[in-house]
Amino acid sequence: MMNAQERLAGIRMRIAEAERAAGRPAGSVRLIVVSKTFDAGAIEPLLACGERVFGENRVGEANDKWPGLKARYDGIELHLIGPLQTNKVRDALPLFDVIDSLDRPSLAAELAKARARAPGVELPRLRVQVNTGEEPQKGGVAPDAADGFLAECREKYGLEIEGLMCIPPADEAPAPHFALLHKIAERNHFSQLSMGMSADFETAIAFGATEVRVGSAIFGDRA
Ligand SMILES: *Cc1c(COP(=O)(O)O)cnc(C)c1O
Repeated sequence: MMNAQERLAGIRMRIAEAERAAGRPAGSVRLIVVSKTFDAGAIEPLLACGERVFGENRVGEANDKWPGLKARYDGIELHLIGPLQTNKVRDALPLFDVIDSLDRPSLAAELAKARARAPGVELPRLRVQVNTGEEPQKGGVAPDAADGFLAECREKYGLEIEGLMCIPPADEAPAPHFALLHKIAERNHFSQLSMGMSADFETAIAFGATEVRVGSAIFGDRA
């Protein structure tokens, strides 16, 4: 049985191999270790071996685990990769370094309001989630509304967006979704493309992912 540290090393090798296969520079893809549902005790061995970039999908759960871990380990970069309710913005801001799931005008408005309340405090870095499969149960702006929403973030709310994120439908080939996200990113001149999970991160790298979000292939299956 491999432990999480060994599985992490294996994922890093596969990322390097996928970069090579895609003709992309070594180190051009960052790994976000998705630690949702796993407790601090499971996360700590990865921090101990130097891993610093993690993703969580729930504000409350992240608040239970990460303030303690951030107090003990320097340089952690925590991403929110799940839906953010406007009434949780206040809790999310001090905790997350990056919000990957900005997906609607009401949330953009709430973030702008929070910034106005505390002008000296920097907001987390922001990415917009695109619902490439237009699934009703999933967050994200529809692909044909993405350009408009991005302009609204910039012009109406003064929010700087650095990239895009998507989660393709579970029961479809992911490649067309990655290609679509890449196209939207390209025409909006974004450098950051967060796409690809345990089952499909190599495909995502072939389609230009700059960040992949891997959970179960490192921690094992979630309960
Ligand atoms: C859970 C989750 C992941 C990681 O999924 P795995 O299949 O366990 O790698 C990636 N991105 C998001 C948004 C998630 O919610």
